[in-house]
Amino acid sequence: MSPVSAHRPAWLTDARLASLRRWVRTDRLGTITALSPFDALPTAPVPECSPDDVEAAAARARAAQPAWAALSFEARAAVILRFHDLLVERQDEVLDLIQWEVGKARLHAWQELLLLGTVARHYARHGRSYLKDRAVRPPVPVVTRVTEVRVPKGVVGVISPWNYPLYLGVADLIPALLAGNTVVSKADPQTPLTLLWARARMAEAGLPEDVWQVVAGDGPSLGEAVVDAADYVCFTGSTATGRIVAERAARRLIGVSLELGGKNPLIVRADADLDLAARGTVDAAFANSGQMCIHIERVIIHRKVYDAFTEALLAATSAQRLGQGLGFGYDVGPLASRAQLEKVSGHVADAVAKGATVLAGGRARPDIGPYAYQPTVLDGVTGDMDLCLGETFGPVVALHRVDGDDEAVAAANLGRQGLSASIFTADTAAAQALARRIRSGAVNVNDGAGLAIATVEAPMGGRGESGLGRRHGAEGIRRFTDAQTVAVSRLGPLGPPPGRPVESFVALGTKQLKLLRRLGIR
Ligand code: NAD
Repeated sequence: MSPVSAHRPAWLTDARLASLRRWVRTDRLGTITALSPFDALPTAPVPECSPDDVEAAAARARAAQPAWAALSFEARAAVILRFHDLLVERQDEVLDLIQWEVGKARLHAWQELLLLGTVARHYARHGRSYLKDRAVRPPVPVVTRVTEVRVPKGVVGVISPWNYPLYLGVADLIPALLAGNTVVSKADPQTPLTLLWARARMAEAGLPEDVWQVVAGDGPSLGEAVVDAADYVCFTGSTATGRIVAERAARRLIGVSLELGGKNPLIVRADADLDLAARGTVDAAFANSGQMCIHIERVIIHRKVYDAFTEALLAATSAQRLGQGLGFGYDVGPLASRAQLEKVSGHVADAVAKGATVLAGGRARPDIGPYAYQPTVLDGVTGDMDLCLGETFGPVVALHRVDGDDEAVAAANLGRQGLSASIFTADTAAAQALARRIRSGAVNVNDGAGLAIATVEAPMGGRGESGLGRRHGAEGIRRFTDAQTVAVSRLGPLGPPPGRPVESFVALGTKQLKLLRRLGIR
């Protein structure tokens, strides 16, 4: 018998596994199996879909959509709120799966759950007001009436990565479902079990069978099949893949939202509380072993406080406990895969070979686990190094010195991405002014990364090559709808009344134009 991961959660019996796998519908016999970061051994096989299976899933979702959209918003919201409660009640199961598939510390797995629960409650309670009909002033009062309504797109394709398989896999489909769409999700090959667990809980909450389809298998072929079959695509992943998705969607003239990568800066002003800034940097740089789109990879420090900040940062970094296994008890888990380990080690090796200095970490820790890598702080990073502006997506930060706000803004705006940024300072008014000068979808002040994304009423997304469109807030649900204008006339067609000279109609209309301009009414 070939070896399997020894960290399989005890509750995940063969029967429970079968109850998850059943949500992947295919006639094929093949399977995909990810390796657990804890021991580089197989987790549990999941059926492997073909592009034809994606087409079939989209057809089932399309057939189910009208009945789902015909339900009241309250009926759809009731399903989502029951899902919320199951998520909270059965959290230990999904936290085990996230840890087993991604390797992250349990606190960071729980933060996914917290954020997803918050999104679920928010849209279940407020989604209706974001989508409500809007009466618009008509061109001719009294006899005409115009309403802007929101209609669902139809079938939404959701493609998400492995790094936050619960939050990124489910948080976007909740507003899509509440808006009356059905969904086809492509599970990331590293993390299918977490997504299937969520699918099973959604069924328990009362979601009809065909309203949410999950497909699993090869990323490029299935991902492209999702883009070919859906009416709208919500993609989260790398900038390189986002570009492929956008090009393919453009050929079909369907809409996309793209949540992509970043090279996020954190600015430490001279007046900052340096212990807080060090804590914020450690949280934002090393959470989920740095495998977080909004995590900090560049710290831009005012020269006057560089030494004192670095001392505080190194103390906070050395206090981080590297470890692995199900349960709490460590702060930084292993990287998720061999590919991740190679990318992170490669970036650090390239920087060191070109003259960067390692102030902390800088090494893999095979004694802890096959993909464990130390939280790492680098000094002396220059533009010729891969990690200077290329996303490392690991627990590595580079320190840079600047002489004031203008230099800090210029450094923060280097590169073409713009997802998230942070400023530590005692002067929050100055920080708010500075924030507007930084090309970034979100700016946190005196917080490393979490505050903006935790504010689910506020839009979240990237500028530049970090993405298009927004999740969260009004935009996070309206993107899954088309605006439709319904214009009603009680007098029949607008235009010159039959039998009257056109000239008098035009003269009357011209007078109206002048009058409205003078009165400043419209
Ligand atoms: P990736 O782009 O390789 O994969 C993302 C998803 O796309 C996966 O499900 C993958 O299977 C699928 N895919 C692969 N090829 C495809 C194709 N040709 N067409 C359609 N889908 C395809 O990204 P990754 O390396 O797995 O994830 C990490 C990246 O995601 C990082 O760059 C990170 O910054 C980014 N990310 C962004 C956000 C955000 O909200 N902005 C959140 C998390 C991660």
